[in-house]
Amino acid sequence: ARYPAIFAKMTMEKVLTHAMLMTWTGTDASLPPVILMAHQDVVPVNPGTDADWTHGPFGGVVADGYVWGRGAMDDKGSLIAILEAGDALAKSGWTPKRTVIFAFGHDEEVSGAGAREIFALLKSRNVTPVMVLDEGYAVLDNYPLTGKPAALIGVAEKGYISLQITATTEGGHSSRPPRESGAVRIARALVALEEKQMPADLSAPPFNQMIEAVAADLPFVTRVAFANQWLLGSVITGQVSGDASANAIVRTTTAPTMMTGSIKDNVLPQRASAVVNFRIHPNDTVASVTQHVKDVTSHIEGLTVTEYEDGIGSEPSPVSATDSEAYRVLEAVARATGGGEVPV
Ligand SMILES: [Zn+2]
Repeated sequence: ARYPAIFAKMTMEKVLTHAMLMTWTGTDASLPPVILMAHQDVVPVNPGTDADWTHGPFGGVVADGYVWGRGAMDDKGSLIAILEAGDALAKSGWTPKRTVIFAFGHDEEVSGAGAREIFALLKSRNVTPVMVLDEGYAVLDNYPLTGKPAALIGVAEKGYISLQITATTEGGHSSRPPRESGAVRIARALVALEEKQMPADLSAPPFNQMIEAVAADLPFVTRVAFANQWLLGSVITGQVSGDASANAIVRTTTAPTMMTGSIKDNVLPQRASAVVNFRIHPNDTVASVTQHVKDVTSHIEGLTVTEYEDGIGSEPSPVSATDSEAYRVLEAVARATGGGEVPV
């Protein structure tokens, strides 16, 4: 797609070659600008899995009411929506009162260097926006907790850390294996982490705010349970934890991703390791997650826990205020998008 009208109106600065910082100067310079963000890149496709796709991962095919392809939701959808809206407004002759800034990073999924550089540039210019809107959620037709539509506005971003657990053992030939090889130790560590998840907190934002918003649509039994958490806390926690999306909102998630061991079928690994990716809840920190992993695996001999070398460690973001003008605007837009009656 091409957007000549909006590109003609906005000044364009390329940052780190491919990231785009576009500015549409408003008529009232006293108003703080609004920043709309999206990232242009997507994650790659696992080699050899192209055939598993209903439509090619990079075809951008529109079929059955959906756009099919890698990044259709994360985050080409936001990118295209911002440009479509901007182009339509520019074409209509509208001019913003408040300066509008588009910030399109190019390597979000790898390192986020583009977004960081744009941030540094805006900071050096003393830009203090009234709102920064980045990729977020959507209006869902079928919100898992209510079975009804709901509009979800993301007010925080979880932190991120990948930890590598390594078991160093003697290795040797698989004809005389020791009682507990490195591979077994790693397996035990992963099982321990799976069984001892980071604690869930149903009373912390944003989950408690979400429950408040959809309370009227909750089934009676669920509503009673939420209102009586002192009594039914563990039942509710169990229910919420059983749903992958709800679980991701109430706690730091634990996801083992990479595993390595021996490179030959008859050789014991001298070093076996697993990488576990954690998305950090606002209640936790990189340090508390690292400590959790050490505690939970401390009974297993010969393990070391380190930050994965290619990983990016970042603390969870602060939780954005929901009593701000920016939030009220978003809320109104989300409600209208959902047909006027959806809880937000
Ligand atoms: Zn994304």
